[in-house]
Amino acid sequence: MSLTADVRPHMPTPPIRHDWSRQEIGALFDLPFPELIFRAQNVHRQHFDPTQVQISTLLSIKTGGCPEDCAYCPQSARYDTGVDADKLMALDAVVAEARAAKSAGASRFCMGAAWRSPKDRELDQVCAMVEAVKAVGLETCATLGMLTAPQARRLKQSGLDYYNHNLDTSPEFYGEIITTRVYADRLETLGHVREAGIHVCCGGIVGMGESRADRIGMIEALASLPVHPESVPINMLVRVAGTPLAGEPALDPLEFVRTIAVARITMPRAVVRLSAGREDMSEETQALCFLAGANSIFYGPKLLTTANPARNRDRELMAKLGLSAMQ
Ligand code: SF4
Repeated sequence: MSLTADVRPHMPTPPIRHDWSRQEIGALFDLPFPELIFRAQNVHRQHFDPTQVQISTLLSIKTGGCPEDCAYCPQSARYDTGVDADKLMALDAVVAEARAAKSAGASRFCMGAAWRSPKDRELDQVCAMVEAVKAVGLETCATLGMLTAPQARRLKQSGLDYYNHNLDTSPEFYGEIITTRVYADRLETLGHVREAGIHVCCGGIVGMGESRADRIGMIEALASLPVHPESVPINMLVRVAGTPLAGEPALDPLEFVRTIAVARITMPRAVVRLSAGREDMSEETQALCFLAGANSIFYGPKLLTTANPARNRDRELMAKLGLSAMQ
């Protein structure tokens, strides 16, 4: 059953804002939990059917050996995580994975490559993949590292629908996590992607030892982009052995839910994706995330190199919650 217009809340839709202050965002985080969820639900229902969840599948098309030093990432060549460096996948193997994802119910196919930035020859190969995956009948997304403006235009010409490039955390905490590039580099690539006319997928990771003030700073950075990202993945850190963040204490799941709710309220039209970290998340936490306004998941047993819930577990959870796949 799909929610019809007559059961959506009858209240004026507030304008989309890009001027959220840290104080206002902090005040949302501080709300009593029921009040926060109520507000997030109201915003969510003004823009989305709360029973529908967008399903994406993520494939690592080029794994490991990355020169960057992102402290959370098992694909960095600097950390001994047991992830071997592979070459770029062959086109036909990518298309086979895309067909399987479509049969399993995905509407979007995301391709990730562990590069600081793609070389033009590599980009041509990815563009051929984008064209082939679109021909399968899926939306396409890529995450390939930093792009120049001409590279973003080249991807747009190939038909790419979304480009993922996360801000990861607050500008202040960024240097604690990554030293091989700076926040401004991220914003520059996001600008090239937006100018090329590609939808933006941009979010962050929580549970990396950042403070709530950093989570507030991350949401402020996302919500003050000139156009909100169409897709906002909120990841819970997966503490991979061998990475510098392997021993980080777990973040309180309710703080994760609060982060989702604040993302929903501040970026009302964005699809908020419950992203990495679901493998270790209880069904109850995930249900709270959907109540808080999350309306997208990655589907399939693997997220790049880390585990994700098996498809049958996700199907069972969605059935229990009465959720269906957004088309
Ligand atoms: S997150 Fe991306 S850029 Fe950073 S080390 Fe991993 S693959 Fe490289």
